[in-house]
Amino acid sequence: MRDISLIIIHCSGNQEGSPLRCKDIDNYHRSIGWNGCGYHYVIPTSGAIEEGRSLKQAGAHCKTHNRHSIGICYIGGLSKEGMPKDTRTSAQRTALRRLLEKLHREYPQALIVGHRDLNPQKTCPCFNVIAEYLDLEP
Ligand SMILES: [Zn+2]
Repeated sequence: MRDISLIIIHCSGNQEGSPLRCKDIDNYHRSIGWNGCGYHYVIPTSGAIEEGRSLKQAGAHCKTHNRHSIGICYIGGLSKEGMPKDTRTSAQRTALRRLLEKLHREYPQALIVGHRDLNPQKTCPCFNVIAEYLDLEP
């Protein structure tokens, strides 16, 4: 297994209520020539925890950090008007926390951050990851 020092949260950049699922992200990423879904987990609005790329493989979600990270993406992140917004449904919030608690047990040394914490030019994932998961710090 790879050394994991970061767990990075993303939004998909779709409008709230988007029905997209992991399979759709997988198809899209293949269509642009990638080796399948760039994230390790995708959480659609239903709150399902869908597996994308194998954890054994580096993801394709955050330039310069893919080798040593796990990438998680919730579907949403934009308002109906197309503005950045925390659109997570309560099912998505619950699922994300459950997944992070599990990963925190498996990789207790990994920092949990949002994409924007590593790249300030991004708004992704449209909420304050570090503040929300302070209890899961290494
Ligand atoms: Zn992102």
